[in-house]
Order: sequence, then structure tokens, then C-alpha cells
Amino acid sequence: MKISNAKLTRNILIGMGLGLILGLALNFSGLQKNEWISSLFIEGVFDLVGNIFVRSLKLLVVPLVFVSLVCGTAAMDDVRKLGKIGIKTMGLYLLTTCIAISLAMGLAFIFKPGQGVAVAETTDSISITEAPSIWEVITNMFPTNPVQAMAEGSMLQVIVFSILFGLAIVVSGKPGQRILSIFTDLNEIVLKLVMILMLIAPYGVFAKITVVFAVEGVDAIWQLGRYFFLVILALVLHAVIVYPSLLKLLSGLSPIRFLKNFYKVQIFAFSTASSNATLPVTLETAEKKLGVNNSTASFTIPLGATINMDGTAIMQGVATIFIAQISGVDLTIGQLLMVIVTATLASIGTAGVPGVGLVMLTMVLNQVGLPIEKISLIIGIDRILDMIRTAVNVTGDAAVTCIVAKGEGQLDESIYNSDTQEEVARS
Ligand code: ASP
Repeated sequence: MKISNAKLTRNILIGMGLGLILGLALNFSGLQKNEWISSLFIEGVFDLVGNIFVRSLKLLVVPLVFVSLVCGTAAMDDVRKLGKIGIKTMGLYLLTTCIAISLAMGLAFIFKPGQGVAVAETTDSISITEAPSIWEVITNMFPTNPVQAMAEGSMLQVIVFSILFGLAIVVSGKPGQRILSIFTDLNEIVLKLVMILMLIAPYGVFAKITVVFAVEGVDAIWQLGRYFFLVILALVLHAVIVYPSLLKLLSGLSPIRFLKNFYKVQIFAFSTASSNATLPVTLETAEKKLGVNNSTASFTIPLGATINMDGTAIMQGVATIFIAQISGVDLTIGQLLMVIVTATLASIGTAGVPGVGLVMLTMVLNQVGLPIEKISLIIGIDRILDMIRTAVNVTGDAAVTCIVAKGEGQLDESIYNSDTQEEVARS
């Protein structure tokens, strides 16, 4: 059986469109409240298919990152290059996150999302997550037990172990060569597994989106419309102005080409609301369609899925100003800077999974003394925003990867600029 990439992408797009239509139809008609429809379809078949889809993406993450990064590190012609790529990538990830949160707060000051929102007293208690210190973050990157790191999916630890293992292969002579050839074969096999599991993607995307739009309270969106649409506006501006400008200015690459080759990944991120679960697709696309060398992509993409969350930072920027406004608090310049620093640091070492952005928001609010319990106001509408911001998160990972790869001579422009839709699955 063969399926072409173009056909698969088209089917995923159809899955997304049908999911949106069906989900909204169920929501508006009130049918989602029907016990029979809810238990048999929404919490039954659709939830089942959607969960299998996300779980099968997640199952790929650790094997893929480990095998791919070991191969990538071992194949580096000059190991010092890895350090250079690492520093550039971290710098750009931090820069884009700072731009994202500043843009969000700037827009929130102009459009005042908290104005006119009637706030009922909330009694919900929300537990505060403390922001880890930078020293803790660095210490925690080093695993004491690589098996445990893989079992728990601690991506920064898996990345560190894989790089060390790859470096050890390079300096091990013949035994290293033998093990590397096994890893190279394993890499091929894991990539084939990605392709096989991609076959259920259109159904998975359809099921996930149907369930979210059927059960999400659309009424709540209208009540907090200003906040909701402002977050979306900031996300869209970041995706269509900031990334394309950085791509063009820093690497000379065509932003249109980038989006054309990358939008399938955005649909995955949108439907899973998890940059981690999307990682296999982001990595495959970065290498096969954006032309980034495996040595670079296998390092920068998993790193980005873990530490680079521009979309999340945008939500946090708008949410912080929103909560300050409804609480009647005027934040000082010092506090605003503190928000930028905390939100940026908080995103490091936090896995890209659904809803984690709100957990991180508690750290930010706590840091500047804003009431944490007000988060309960925005929880109800966060799922849809989570989907959109995750699409922005993965776009940032790939854009930075392309910029760094181009600068380091690790990007094949003939692939980046081509329209080829190679075969993606055979069996
Ligand atoms: N769901 C987001 C991600 O995985 C994180 C968040 O903002 O909640 O990238």
C-alpha cells in the first residue's frame, strides 16, 4: 500500500474541517448533551479514536529523539559545531519568547481585555506552582538514570544523555562504528513507524477536534470575548509577522515556502494541543520538507518542543494584564519586566503538553503578587486557545531551526524550495 504525502495532508485537512463542522453542530444544536450521543459518540468512539491517535504519537517521542539524536551527534563532522548550534538556538528561542510576551502585553495595554468584564467572586482554590531557579533547571537537565528519564519522558534529560552517548560513539573507534550502524538502521525503522502511524492521523484529527468543539462552552467564549480574541490576534500576528520577518532577515529564506511546507504540522499541533505529541511530525517535516540536516534538527526540534513556547508566553502575557485589570492593579515597569523574565524561564523545562501553560501562569502571577484564583475565569475557554498557541509553539521551533541551520550550512535549500511530495508510507 502506498499513500502520498499530498494525499495524507489533504485527508488531514478534511479531517480537521469535518471535525470543526460536526463539533460545532453538536454544540449549537445541544445534541452533545443527549445522553445517548454523548456516551456512545463523544465520550465513546470519538474519544477513543482521538486518544489512540495522541497516544501513538506520544509513543514515538522517546525512541525517535534518542535514536535520531544519537545518529545526529555521531554524524557531526565537527563536534564543536554542536555547541555553536546550541548557543545560537537557545539565544533565538529566548529572543522569540521575549518578543512574544512583549507583543502580547503591548496589545493587552492597548485593547484592555479586562475592561467591562463583570467578575463574580471566585472561591476556587488553585495551587501555585513555584518557578524553579535557573540553577535547578540546569541541574535537572542531567539525568541520574537514563532509563528513568526515558520512562518519565523528561526530554531535556533524554537530550543530554543522547548527546553524550553520541559523543562517546564518535570517540570509540571500531566498537563505536558498529553501534552507530545499528543506530542508523534503527533510525530508519523508527521513521517508518512514524509513517505507519501517520495513516490514522486524518481520523485522529477529526475525532479530537469534534470532541473539543462539541464540549467546549461556546457561551463562555462570548463572555470573555475580548480576552479570547486578543490572545488569538497576538498569536496570529506573531505567526504571520514576527516569524516570517525573522526568517527573511536572519536567513533570507522564503516565509511563504516555509508555511507551505509546514502547515501540516500546525494542524497536528492544533488537534493534539501538545508540542510533545507533535514532535515526531515536526522533526520529520523539518528534515524532509524544510531540508534541515538530521544532526541539527534532531537536536533543536526536541529542545524547542520542551523549552520554546512562544504561543504559551503570549497567552500568559495577555492573561496577566487581563487579571491585573480586573483586579484593579496597576503593574509597575519592574513588575512587567519580571513577568517577561518569569514567563520565559518558566517555559524552560516544562513539557509541551495540553494545559501546561495555565500551570505556568500561576508562577507568573505569583511572582508579581496577582491573585492566582482569578485563573479559574479563563480555564473554561483555555482549551481552544491551547490548540492555537500550540500551533504557534511548534512554528517557532521550526522557524528558529531553519534560521540556525541556514547559518551553519546545515540546510538543503533545494529541498526547502521544492514542491516535492515524496511517498510517505509503504507497506
Ligand atoms: N499545550 C502547549 C504545548 O504543548 C503548552 C501550553 O501552552 O499549555 O505546547
